[in-house]
Amino acid sequence: METRANDARHRQRQQKLKEQVEARVAAATGKKGILIVFTGNGKGKSTAAFGTVTRAVGHGKTVGVAQFIKGQWDNGEYNTLHPLGVEFHIMGTGFTWETQNREADIAAALVVWTEAQRMLADPQYDLVVLDELTYMLAYHYLDTDAVIAAITARPAQQSVIVTGRGCHARLLDLADTVSEMRPVKHAFDSGIQAQVGIDW
Ligand code: ATP
Ligand code: MG
Repeated sequence: METRANDARHRQRQQKLKEQVEARVAAATGKKGILIVFTGNGKGKSTAAFGTVTRAVGHGKTVGVAQFIKGQWDNGEYNTLHPLGVEFHIMGTGFTWETQNREADIAAALVVWTEAQRMLADPQYDLVVLDELTYMLAYHYLDTDAVIAAITARPAQQSVIVTGRGCHARLLDLADTVSEMRPVKHAFDSGIQAQVGIDW
């Protein structure tokens, strides 16, 4: 008897939930490219970005990637996605993070940013990933106004993903979707070294 009453209540609750979800889905009629930010100190920002790239490529979308950190060309995402037609611009040669040469760092950042700007102005790109962009703004290697302007003026159907810790408040304001990776644990903290296929 009791069980049947519980079942009925469960069905009622589920029916109500279903109606609420359907109403929200019906209300979401907007269609445009979005700005997504993956930020925070936890692991998963770049992997979330490249997961989305994989999804987009799987639907025949055109994707461009700008990576604003000293490039290691043997990264797994490059090895997988470049042969599938994803365009990569990685801050490689000339970038001297280790030598603390600010001038050279800025020059290297600008080379990648010039490519990013071109992609952000071209409606052929469905998705543009600006991996580790946040550090370029935090270090004032790139001009925040210029970055905001290029993202704001992009073609209406183009989506953009920005990754990196400590995202600039203006980019967070501009974004449609923001996820913050929160570190609950990280293997590195218990002495386990970064490993191929997991960390790059
Ligand atoms: P991933 O590329 O694994 O998604 P991420 O993009 O969120 O990481 P980054 O700071 O860009 O984070 O990562 C650079 C490298 O540092 C990666 O190899 C990543 O595994 C590692 N890493 C990320 N978060 C942490 C952390 N909290 N402690 C130590 N190492 C980390
Ligand atoms: Mg990253």
